[in-house]
Parts: sequence; C-alpha cells; structure tokens
Amino acid sequence: MPRIYLDHNATTPLHPSVLEAMLPFLGERFGNPSSLHWSGREARQGLDRARRSAAALIGAEPAEIVFTASGTEADNLALRGALAAAGPGKRHLVTSAVEHPAVLSTCEDLERGGVEVTRLPVDSAGRVDPAAAEAALRPDTALLSLMLANNEVGTLQPVEEVARAAHARGVRVHCDAVQAAGRVPVDVRALGVDLLSLSGHKIGGPKGVGALFASREAALSPILTGGSQEGGRRAGTENVPGIVGFGRACELAAAGLAEGAGRQGRLRDRLQRGIEERVPGARANGHPELRLPNTLNLTFPGVDGESFLMNLDLLGIAASTGSACSSGSVEPSHVLIAMGLSPREVSGSIRLSLGPENTEEEVDAALEALADVIQSLGGGGAP
Ligand code: PLP
Repeated sequence: MPRIYLDHNATTPLHPSVLEAMLPFLGERFGNPSSLHWSGREARQGLDRARRSAAALIGAEPAEIVFTASGTEADNLALRGALAAAGPGKRHLVTSAVEHPAVLSTCEDLERGGVEVTRLPVDSAGRVDPAAAEAALRPDTALLSLMLANNEVGTLQPVEEVARAAHARGVRVHCDAVQAAGRVPVDVRALGVDLLSLSGHKIGGPKGVGALFASREAALSPILTGGSQEGGRRAGTENVPGIVGFGRACELAAAGLAEGAGRQGRLRDRLQRGIEERVPGARANGHPELRLPNTLNLTFPGVDGESFLMNLDLLGIAASTGSACSSGSVEPSHVLIAMGLSPREVSGSIRLSLGPENTEEEVDAALEALADVIQSLGGGGAP
C-alpha cells in the first residue's frame, strides 16, 4: 500500500541534506561550543553558521537569533520574557483567539499570575481585524502577540499593519511564524516585529529545536537561568547537532521558497478542486487567498472527522483533524470554533497539508481515497 504523507503542518520529514549536515556533530565534532579549545571551536563554527542561516531566512542579524529547544519554548520566551522585562506597570497582553496552544496556554498560565489578556476575535476566514487590535492596546500593554500563519487553516494575519499600530503606541510585537517560515516570505524588518518564533521540524529540520528572533531593541528576560549561552538570553549548552540541522533547513527553505510555494500551491488547488468536484457538500475553511500555499482545511457535512482520519490511515494516507498538538484529545478545534463553525461542522473537518516531496500522482491517489471514504461514511451530501 502506498503511504502518502499529507500532514506537513504537524511535522515534516528530515531533509537528507539536513541529516548529512548533522552527522559530524553527532560524531567527531562533539565539542561544547562554549569551550575555548579546538573541540569547542569546531562546535562553535557549526553554531555560528546555523545562526547566520536562520537570520538570513528572516532578514535578521545573527546576533538577534536565540536558539531554543522548540517553537513552543520560543513562544514561551517571547511572552514570559517580554512581560518580565516590561516591569510591574505593564501587565496586559493582547493576542488572538486562534493562536497555537504554545501561546494560548502560556497566556492562561500568565493570567493565573495576575496578567490580563485580551484575545482578539477573528472573522469567518480566521483573520483578525487590525482596527480591533489597535483598539485593544492600553498604556499597560506589555506585548501584542499575533501569529503569521495559522497551523490549522493556514490563514495569514495582517501582522505588518497590526505591528505598525502597536509601535505607534509604544507596544512591542511578537509573531509566531512557526508555520509561515519556509512557506511564505518572512522578513522581520518588513513585518516590523520585535520578536518572532521559528521551529526546525516544520521546515525539514529536526524536532526539538527552535529559535526566537529578538531585535536589539526588544527587552527580554531569560526564562531559563544558568550559564551565559545565547548571549545570556537562554541558558543551557546548545543542542549543536539539532541547531546545525535547523540551520541547514533554513538554507534549503530560503533557496526553495519561491518554487516550493508555487508548486505546493498548485497541488493544493488541484486537491481542493478535485474534492469539491467529487464531494458536493465539502467546504474549504480559511481565507481563499491569504492562506499558506500548502494548507487545505475542509468541512465534510455529516462526516465524523475521527472516523474519516482512521479510514484514510487504513489506506495509507496521513492527515489531521486540526492541530497535531491536540490530536488524541476530544476538544473541538478552538480555531474553527473562533471562525464561527458549529461543533458538528468542526467534528467533520480535516486538515491536509502538503510538503515539497508530494507529487501530482500522490494528490490524485489521495483524491480517490478521500472520495471513497466519504462515500463509505455516508457524508458529503447537502450541508
Ligand atoms: N506555533 C505554531 C503555529 C505551531 O504550529 C507549532 C507546532 O505545531 C508550534 C508553535 C510549536 O512548535 P514546536 O512543535 O517546535 O514546539
């Protein structure tokens, strides 16, 4: 049975060239990058190159990159670090209702400690209204955190416009670009953000490594204390092999961005058209244009998403009902709920997310399988 992987927003396969770049650092180049001798220098060189590569992908300076152990940690460092640095007079955060749990659960935890959080609603396409974002800013706002691309539906947020309004009021801005990087251009200066999160495993890099861009102006208190690694912003001996792999993945992402986005966009559209032709009641969620090129979130009325996924899995197709991080739990997607879908519609929704290795043949095979499964589950009729 062919295995077709259509869940790249959950994670991506490690690129062979990333593995090749990592191997020496799992072997002979084992040094601690903080050591001053030859062994340390060898490790440090790997780290330095990765820092330059990560910075280049997002238009930053290498000194503005703080390596972390995940995108989740980068989000935590941004929110907790900015808030701690802002001081006792600034205890308000603004974010959106459709952020990843790495941001939303962190906000909940901060609320338990007395921080006030405003969650901006989204429209039916999953977009925040920039005017509402501006209106939510207060003199005690420490940070505004808005994702660039949503992991479940792919909708892109008006980060540039919101950041401009926030800066006009002296409010710092964080952007979770974990799903956007490598899929759409990300430039921290053009976006005008102070902090921006990245993750290795969404772009062909290894799991367990991420980065936070922190501009020179952004005040940030460390959340992990210890040694003075990462310019004193993140203590702990760096995961050198992981970071080297992440750096290589950033280089590949930068080189393949334009072509990859075009190709995946065409495949995604083929998938969407094919499904809409075969399953009359199917509806795509998210913004029709302002959306990641690789992401397709669909509602199939009358179908149970979990059974749908299990049946697809039996046919060798990997897809998702939403955020990978919430799979296994029965919680309905907070993103689709915020976009106004009913709980029934949410339970009939699945996410297909493409990657650079997917082919037209795979898309066509997936289409046939999807249509067969829908038919066997008795869904896809009139909404
Ligand atoms: N932010 C977004 C938008 C994500 O989609 C994810 C992962 O799915 C994360 C943050 C967390 O990244 P990591 O898996 O590296 O912790």
